[in-house]
Amino acid sequence: MITATKSEYVTVKNSGVHNKGIFAKRDIPAETEVIEYIGERITKAQARKIFEGTLEASKKNSSNGSVYIFELNKRYDIDGNVSYNTARYINHSCEPNCEPINIRGHIWIVATKNIKKGEELSYDYGYCLDDYHEHPCRCGSTNCVGYIVSEDHRLELMNLLKKR
Ligand SMILES: [Zn+2]
Repeated sequence: MITATKSEYVTVKNSGVHNKGIFAKRDIPAETEVIEYIGERITKAQARKIFEGTLEASKKNSSNGSVYIFELNKRYDIDGNVSYNTARYINHSCEPNCEPINIRGHIWIVATKNIKKGEELSYDYGYCLDDYHEHPCRCGSTNCVGYIVSEDHRLELMNLLKKR
């Protein structure tokens, strides 16, 4: 069995945003590589199957709609939906303080701001607009759009919501 990833910077706790979350154990300066996002290495074809399966599942039950796949390189992706990937608990925020970055073929969750001890870590899940209503956001930031969509789509979503 692979042991769960640990980081000197963070700990898993219950979150007000969504089930569990990842919280700073100490002050984390911007640009720190906080925790690696690990998982099973899969091919692009396998990734596509998981995406399609998740789409089907999310139509039946919205809580199964989460996707944990990151691109590693041209050939392989990583499926982080495994118990030993502690970083999968990081929640989405409309005003995130971290960003997943591919560093030499490894996905790292990197701080984009100075994070204070006790703060919850978050990054932009980068969801597109499809089925946005199935992914409500409770991040609590002042500019929360109410749904989990990537930053590039937030203005479009706000206009869409105004029209309703
Ligand atoms: Zn939000």
